[in-house]
Amino acid sequence: MKTVYLDNNATTRVDPDVVAAMLPYFTEHYGNASSVHTFGSSVGDAIKSARRRVQELVGAEFDHEIVFTSGGTESDTTALISAFESGGERSEIVTSAVEHPAILAICKHLVDTRGAELRLVPVDSRGRLDLEAYRKVLGPRTAVVSVMWANNETGTLFPVAQLAQWAHEAGALFHTDAVQAVGRVAMALKDTKIDMLSLSGHKLHGPKGIGALYVRRGTRFRPLLRGGHQERARRAGTENTAGIVGLGAAAALATVRWQEDAARVGALRDRLEEGLLERIGGTAVVGDRSHRLFNTVNVTFEFLESEALLVNLSRAGIAASSGSACTSGSMEPSHVLRAMKVPFTAAQGAVRFSLSRDNVDSDVDRVLEAAPAIVERLRRGA
Ligand code: PLP
Repeated sequence: MKTVYLDNNATTRVDPDVVAAMLPYFTEHYGNASSVHTFGSSVGDAIKSARRRVQELVGAEFDHEIVFTSGGTESDTTALISAFESGGERSEIVTSAVEHPAILAICKHLVDTRGAELRLVPVDSRGRLDLEAYRKVLGPRTAVVSVMWANNETGTLFPVAQLAQWAHEAGALFHTDAVQAVGRVAMALKDTKIDMLSLSGHKLHGPKGIGALYVRRGTRFRPLLRGGHQERARRAGTENTAGIVGLGAAAALATVRWQEDAARVGALRDRLEEGLLERIGGTAVVGDRSHRLFNTVNVTFEFLESEALLVNLSRAGIAASSGSACTSGSMEPSHVLRAMKVPFTAAQGAVRFSLSRDNVDSDVDRVLEAAPAIVERLRRGA
């Protein structure tokens, strides 16, 4: 029985066309882009073309605004450290309470080691950013604002273009972690005030270990990795050519496909969500249902532990994930659900289903057939 894979916010299957585009860069075009011979120049051309494809996907004005990195975590880390270090007298970092650990951990590091002060903006029970609190916290001491485009646990979208505008009015740099949003929402960065944006290949049917940081032309920037002059001296290290080509191919596919995917996959997600709510009592959706990624639904199952549900779903051939992190044997609801003040009895039974263009109707049928009986059995304590 084929496993129904509904954990695409964790990672996606690499598209076969992406794999095919990458392969020659292991076996034939294995040169170093910095070399002067033809082995090098053909690789240089491939990197250039991949850069253009990523530029097009995010709607950047110039291709050199795309800096290739090893993924979302490196892009986030680079952006935050660079913005903080180049912020002069300004010492405050503004971010949201529901960011990915890749952002929260580097913020904490800057607080612990560099004298940064952190301002966490709260969200409401639907996961929407408190815009009033956001505007109030911005000021002459704000060095950088980092607010995610789409939340990885609930899919909730933040109005980043507006947030960037307000950050600029306060004289601060604006970064967004768009790891979950790139390839899933329309982007025209050139028409916004967003200074930096993080993206990751493996969330858009590209390979793992490759990503990019968009850095608007003219933005104050300090490299995280220093050494060679790759990426215009903004990210040293021999280029991950096959990964870069793969990310370019994935970006090109997303550019032509995402709208069609959004309509079809969005309808599948809606049918899954409605089916679960209808068939199973004590369920609710967490997140902003009217401003959400088309592929994501986070459902809470009251009086259940998500771990038990996930194990049983897995036995039935269904792969989903929880919004909880297991800490020292006890289930702690995730910081995202805690920030949304989801009641504990619901939050501990949160399950995230995240779809992709690989999903089909029968996948949803499988979940709707299996889940009610599993939930019923677990609630009975059997
Ligand atoms: N930011 C968000 C919102 C994510 O969902 C993830 C991955 O789960 C990351 C950052 C980290 O990206 P990567 O795995 O490419 O380091």
